[in-house]
Amino acid sequence: MRLSKMHINTLREAPAEAEIPSHVWLLRSGMIRKLVSGVYGFMPLGYRSVRKIEEITRQEMDATGAQEIHMSAIQPAELWMESGRWHVMGPEMWRVKDRHERDFCLGPTHEEIFTDIVRSEVSSYRQLPLNLYQIQTKYRDEARPRFGLMRSREFVMKDAYSFDRDWEGLDKSYKDMYEAYERVFARCGLTFRAVEADSGAMGGNASHEFTALADVGESEIAYCDSCDMAATTERAAVKDAPAAEEAELPLEIVSTPGTKTIDAVAEYLELPKEKTIKALLLAVYGEDGGVREYVAAFIRGDRELNMTKLVNALGVPEHMAAFADEAAMEAATGCVGGFTGPVGLHDCKILVDSELTGMKNMCAGACKLDCHMINVNYGRDYKGDVVTDLKKIREGDPCPACGAPTRLARGIEVGQVFKLGTKYSASMGAYYKDDNMKDHLIVMGSYGIGVTRTLAAIAEQHHDEDGLIWPVPVAPYHVIVTVVKADDKEQSELAERIYGELLANHVEALLDDRDERAGVKFKDADILGIPVRITVGKKAAEGVVEYKPRAEKKALELGAAEAVAEATRFIRDRL
Ligand code: ATP
Ligand code: MG
Repeated sequence: MRLSKMHINTLREAPAEAEIPSHVWLLRSGMIRKLVSGVYGFMPLGYRSVRKIEEITRQEMDATGAQEIHMSAIQPAELWMESGRWHVMGPEMWRVKDRHERDFCLGPTHEEIFTDIVRSEVSSYRQLPLNLYQIQTKYRDEARPRFGLMRSREFVMKDAYSFDRDWEGLDKSYKDMYEAYERVFARCGLTFRAVEADSGAMGGNASHEFTALADVGESEIAYCDSCDMAATTERAAVKDAPAAEEAELPLEIVSTPGTKTIDAVAEYLELPKEKTIKALLLAVYGEDGGVREYVAAFIRGDRELNMTKLVNALGVPEHMAAFADEAAMEAATGCVGGFTGPVGLHDCKILVDSELTGMKNMCAGACKLDCHMINVNYGRDYKGDVVTDLKKIREGDPCPACGAPTRLARGIEVGQVFKLGTKYSASMGAYYKDDNMKDHLIVMGSYGIGVTRTLAAIAEQHHDEDGLIWPVPVAPYHVIVTVVKADDKEQSELAERIYGELLANHVEALLDDRDERAGVKFKDADILGIPVRITVGKKAAEGVVEYKPRAEKKALELGAAEAVAEATRFIRDRL
């Protein structure tokens, strides 16, 4: 393609909304274009890279025997009512009505649709296992769309669904998908980790997230260098601190004026934070928006609450639980903001982190203004309605598997796989008949890759201060041939020859034949991140050009034929 004919629009400056490098460079390269918050379009170069990621994904899916179909983004509410998710999904689900007032959604995911296909088209064990997938646009009205393609409201997802006769079958399907995902992300040039994950609103009982490592990522993962433990911090189990070996002392109320935080009370009473109990006050809201129940969760004062573990313990979707309106909760339960402890509460569900059951003589709020209790002991003074692990793992905490210090890292969730089991086949009635004509529930898995988020993750891992540096398999073009002076006959003839030879070698080449200053062309080539640049300048008459991989600082002087051979080899080695 000749740049003189191509629609490109590189920007000298990043639009103000771009906060992270991938967003800056995808906008500045003109590869994506914002329409409204969280909604982006793809321009010619951007769309080429999207299609390459799609194609890599497609090849790896097809290699496992999965079959591609294409379903509508518009989904009738009835199917979501059947699975029970119409309400679980909350405000993220983009709901629309047709002219007859019938409810639909713009699909955030497709478990219901694929289950519906299979329940009506599969009847015999002979038709299983089956894996169907699509590469399609998804809609989620995210509360905080941000970072461009990273968290958008419309995005491209590859979603696959496996259907098996039994759990062993699902294990195999899941493993096939897991391994295919490893190949997809490796081919996309990502540095990533597969980690155990929570299954959230998807349901099911096993899940892994594929996380591209990046400091700006919204996922936090915990891993261990001594064993293979790796999990999202939402999911990672936390070992309880060893139980204290102290005699229980008598419960006392002490005056602690103005000490509303753990730091303040620990300082005032000269206690380590490990000796305090932190209270978190929440409400579970019903479908009508009213409070269904109040919840007080207690963890050791030095710990942080893990919201995912908390909503799992409550058995409610995350969007239905939120920090409570304190005044309303005080009136209903006897809690006192900043001075709430587990003793003296009423009409409220009490959740206790399992670690607290082994702690002795703790300090907690007294449910009385400016007062705390000391020597609070589990069992004697209070009990939990639910006792479970509610805490967030920290750097250095003992690994839940082997005890070595846990490490933390941040990353971008680019894919997730779920063992759904029979959640959808049971709620929606998807059965197959065995050879005795007996009905069995189909055992399912679901598997998603965020195609457009993957593009952003690649940009996040592959850029420098001058622009993008695309890995060859996802680069919009492979080589850019830059003519320093487009009106110089020798230069343009040599550049044309090189360009033609690259095309003949099946290298995807761009020819920058624009009537622009050389500086502008070099800057654009850097921003666009084309993996190899061949520059035809002053030495064109001698048949000498400059050859420079985008990732390297120094250019080489090579003969034209040599430069073509070198570029061709460079690209072929990396495809
Ligand atoms: P997140 O936790 O980031 O909101 P999710 O766990 O809800 O994502 P899944 O339901 O697992 O997402 O969807 C499969 C894949 O789709 C994700 O792994 C991610 O790559 C992509 N994805 C999800 N939400 C978005 C979004 N708002 N914008 C872009 N890609 C997304
Ligand atoms: Mg996910």
